[in-house]
Amino acid sequence: MPDPKEELGIEFVNKQISDYYSTAKYIAPDRMSEREFGVGNFETKIARRHISFKSENELRNYLSGNSVPYVSCSAAYYKYPDGRPMENKGWLGSELVFDLDSTDMDLVCQRAHGRSWVCKNCLNSVKGETIKLIYDFLIPDFGFSESDIQVNFSGSRGYHVHIKKESVLQLDAASRREISNYISGIGMDFQEFFPTAGQRGMMLSGPRPSDKGWKGKIARNFLSNLNAGIDSLSSMGIDRTMATKLYRKKSLIEMGIRNGNWDMVYIKNKADFWKGIIDRQAVSQSDKIDKNVTNDPSHLIRLPNTIHGGTGLLAKRLGDAKDLYRFDPMKDAIAFKKGQVRISANTNFEIVMAGQRYGPYGGEINVPMYVAMYLFLKGNARLLREV
Ligand SMILES: [Zn+2]
Repeated sequence: MPDPKEELGIEFVNKQISDYYSTAKYIAPDRMSEREFGVGNFETKIARRHISFKSENELRNYLSGNSVPYVSCSAAYYKYPDGRPMENKGWLGSELVFDLDSTDMDLVCQRAHGRSWVCKNCLNSVKGETIKLIYDFLIPDFGFSESDIQVNFSGSRGYHVHIKKESVLQLDAASRREISNYISGIGMDFQEFFPTAGQRGMMLSGPRPSDKGWKGKIARNFLSNLNAGIDSLSSMGIDRTMATKLYRKKSLIEMGIRNGNWDMVYIKNKADFWKGIIDRQAVSQSDKIDKNVTNDPSHLIRLPNTIHGGTGLLAKRLGDAKDLYRFDPMKDAIAFKKGQVRISANTNFEIVMAGQRYGPYGGEINVPMYVAMYLFLKGNARLLREV
């Protein structure tokens, strides 16, 4: 056992952060002088706010000089970003922001590894959810284009989606809530989707895949699961006997639904059956959008291309929304690329960084700096010495 006094502690981490920022590029957001900044320490993510910066150099010197582990900035633009209280800032407008986080999703893997650990499946699931938000909602239902949308990896376990289009900047909190409710499926009315449900002897008419908004989404989602097979149907909450029956008659069912007829095969208590499935779809498409961020125009959110003090990864700005498909945070958001550190680690699961597997660990080992920082900041390792 090494003498604990000889271990590398938080000063070592602070030095890495300071060195990183001394040469960091692209850390200034657009309209920087109109934004409020907040900075944190390892205990509190936003310990001080109402700060403003005039230039990237000023920001860089501050972050490097103070070894700041968390820096956030407003999605709002202000005339006086350092003014206080909030009313004195002179609000000019706010981007529309969505915050998606894997801990808001009910994932099977989380039951195995707990909430503090993040695995490949967590990251892939929240990426899928972000793709769904953009390509199933923001573009088709709200008419935004890819160029209106900026996607940032959060630096830990999710993504932030910003819309900067002129038409959203002036939206008030109530309108922002309406948008997030729509995306979350809050307030959906089953009777509106299936107007003949519950009427004896009537054909069950329902949404067609070509319909706009939620209606089309419900029809398209069901058909894509139907075509994907019995397992996909089961994942929608359909028991296997019924899933098998539906899958055998899939051509007939698909033809019906394309014409708005959801009654092509006999289903006992059909209205209840479909309602159950749709309720599940709504939950699976929603519940994951952090409504506070979207609704609160004064919220501070992680500054892109800066370090997340809980992982040592960058809160990385993606080139455009399409980049999501190939973005791998455990490779593309690595900040501390140089050096090797001997660590004493205790992990029950592996991590994959820059394409290499690390762990599970129970003892001393030499690892790249970024692995050492990640495990240390997560509380899974002690830093022994540079090697
Ligand atoms: Zn997981």
